[in-house]
Amino acid sequence: MIDMQKILSSLPDDLKSLVRRNQPLSQATTLQIGGPAALLCEVQNTEHAQRFQEIANQNQLPFFVLGGGSNILAADEGFPGMVMHVATRDFQVSGNTLVVGSGLGFDEVVSSSLASGLSGLEFASGIPGTLGGAIMGNAGCYGHEIGEFLLEAITLTPEGCIKHRGPEDFGFRYRATSLRESGEILLQVTLGLKSGGVDAAQVLRDEKITDRHNKHPRDLPSAGSWFRNLPPSAPGQRRTAAGALLEKAGSKEMQEGDAQVFSGHANMIVNTGHATCQQVQKLAGRMKDAVWDQFQVKLVQEVRHLGPPDLLLQKNNLSR
Ligand SMILES: Cc1cc2nc3c(=O)[nH]c(=O)nc-3n(C[C@H](O)[C@H](O)[C@H](O)COP(=O)(O)OP(=O)(O)OC[C@H]3O[C@@H](n4cnc5c(N)ncnc54)[C@H](O)[C@@H]3O)c2cc1C
Repeated sequence: MIDMQKILSSLPDDLKSLVRRNQPLSQATTLQIGGPAALLCEVQNTEHAQRFQEIANQNQLPFFVLGGGSNILAADEGFPGMVMHVATRDFQVSGNTLVVGSGLGFDEVVSSSLASGLSGLEFASGIPGTLGGAIMGNAGCYGHEIGEFLLEAITLTPEGCIKHRGPEDFGFRYRATSLRESGEILLQVTLGLKSGGVDAAQVLRDEKITDRHNKHPRDLPSAGSWFRNLPPSAPGQRRTAAGALLEKAGSKEMQEGDAQVFSGHANMIVNTGHATCQQVQKLAGRMKDAVWDQFQVKLVQEVRHLGPPDLLLQKNNLSR
């Protein structure tokens, strides 16, 4: 049995002030579901990441890296180890490159890049979460993905080594990278953008934000699209939206307790009050089954699980 209080008490004061004990994951995820993280640690710089990781390794604590929690379903029983919340937020411009802390909000990176006279990221306006979460999951929309812009990244491996990573190390593919489940912590990112074109980019940004306001749940907690869109049926063709199949399969009528499919988007689950992880899992299972029964198509989950380590691997493997 790991004595968390003892670990907390043994921390030097500067780290202690960055740690919260038994912190509800419902407060750290946009779906607002999840029991307590035994230790929730705020990583503000590389040194914090190294020191927290060393403590996790020394005490054989399971750890999970969290960004904005906008693509996460956290377990009702919480997480019995260290959740490292990445909050590195530096922002520097050099020519047409940005060097950014991965804990900075993705949308803030978009707006700050435009304010610095650089365009390219406007397609992603309004995507919740951090830049780190976006890179690790190769977030995208409207025909673009963040992986297109990565020049270099600094990460910390689970063994405590600082690595300089290039795009080839990430293996960017549709809503996934090779590094996301590796336990490597993304700390800093260098992005290559375009000088100028800011006025047109700002117009596009406003359009995308309006589109999101119209299509996505504004007042109800969610985690974005639950399932991935389907692979193209032939090279050069577009993906089929999972939401289109889910809509035909009747998912908008589905509900489990306070977990409900959003009336405006058949591929989004919303928390209408006090939904539990169990209810969401049951609902997602019903959505998946309905599409299988009607179309013989097996949907793959996009949202990641945060929970007890044995379940974590099993569940997140399902959606690799
Ligand atoms: C309303 C809504 C709309 C959305 N629209 C879109 C969309 O259009 N396109 C899209 O792609 N997504 C969308 N999403 C999903 C989500 O916002 C993105 O996937 C986002 O990029 C996740 O970032 P995050 O910081 O919240 O990551 P988290 O949810 O905190 O984590 C996601 C994964 O990334 C890992 N991770 C996060 N940060 C780091 C880090 N610094 N180092 C290592 N690993 C890390 C975590 O371990 C986890 O596996 C939407 C979500 C919502 C709620």
